[in-house]
Amino acid sequence: MSVFQNIVSRLSDLKGLMKLKEDEIKYLLEPQKISSATLKVDGKKFPAWRIISNQALGPGKGGVRFHPGVCEDEVKSLAFWMSLKNSLLGLPYGGAKGGVQFNPKEHDEIFLEKVSRAYIDSFYKVLGQDKDIPAPDVYTNSQTMAWMLDQYEKNIGEHQAGMITGKPVELGGITLRSDATAKGAYFVISELTKTLGIEDKELTVAIQGFGNAGLNIAKMMYDGNFKIVAVNDSKGGIYNQAGINITELVKFKEEYGVVSAFSDHQAISNDELLESEVDILILGALENQITKENAEKIKAKYIVEIANGPTSYEADKILFEKGIIVVPDILANAGGVLVSYFEWSQNRTGNILDEEYLVKLFKNKMVQSFHNVYNKYLDFDKKIDLRTSAYIIALDKIIKAEKLRGRMR
Ligand code: GLU
Repeated sequence: MSVFQNIVSRLSDLKGLMKLKEDEIKYLLEPQKISSATLKVDGKKFPAWRIISNQALGPGKGGVRFHPGVCEDEVKSLAFWMSLKNSLLGLPYGGAKGGVQFNPKEHDEIFLEKVSRAYIDSFYKVLGQDKDIPAPDVYTNSQTMAWMLDQYEKNIGEHQAGMITGKPVELGGITLRSDATAKGAYFVISELTKTLGIEDKELTVAIQGFGNAGLNIAKMMYDGNFKIVAVNDSKGGIYNQAGINITELVKFKEEYGVVSAFSDHQAISNDELLESEVDILILGALENQITKENAEKIKAKYIVEIANGPTSYEADKILFEKGIIVVPDILANAGGVLVSYFEWSQNRTGNILDEEYLVKLFKNKMVQSFHNVYNKYLDFDKKIDLRTSAYIIALDKIIKAEKLRGRMR
């Protein structure tokens, strides 16, 4: 099943629940703007995209990823999820996403800078603080954003810091952005455990992916009341029933670039990590990690999606039957775009917002969003999963906005 096919199936399930018409579903699924290009860098050619899924609530917003697996189907799906995420959080944004199909790990900084600039040369006309605002995603970071901002400003001949978020602080970024995705997920997990009355137990955790979000959530959970027993990255994984020392592991990862071979922990495969016996499984890698092939074997009680789209449509059904609670991506990883919104607001107004106020606002928004989703789930007597609850809330706002605009009747 392609990534986008998962979305088509989910929307078709919502048809009855939300009383959607066939042409409304079709309209929502159709991206509102697809831009594509072939980037030419040092004699090499890379396909690239920027796609706006929906812009009823505001300009497009969403990251740009550099990965060999990037394709139109994936970018389209990620853009759709951004529309839902922004709507769910109540942000004045539509949803968008971009990507370049290449492996950044095979190239040096100079080459990455060239790709970043080439991306902007191809797409600067469709980007802008009131059009579509990129941010970091898989294998892009604040340095990528700095190059992109610089190239954008060269192209338009003026400053416009709000055209991109996740920038370095020196260029108009905000400090809260770097670990915002993980922090948002942490608040959601804390709220979930409190709601379920299990916050005092020492819950065991497995984390798939040790990139920005995975690494930071590992640190936060390690400092909290959790025992992390399994961790992996794209090169391999480790397991220790007694708990992994995350402070040491982070140092190891920084030095060697991998988590495998850390200390004398047991090596485990990706499948073993996903199927490990833990309370919480955190998915922080890529799409379609839990599918109908392995869903039956999942032993975790709770799954938290800090990556986008890690659970397939078919897997959702199996996990629901098994009583496993999945905290969906559009809620669990929304902390990143929430702080992007603070950054963008600051850039657009020129006002410097008080950090203490933002920290409070951030927590309130994440906690409130969790309860909005959880309450919807209760409204349905727990007969739908949390993803469906989140989709209903998010789609409802988008549909209302489309109707008010007179684009959907
Ligand atoms: N790439 C992140 C996400 O998937 C952040 C997007 C943003 O800040 O615009 O949510």
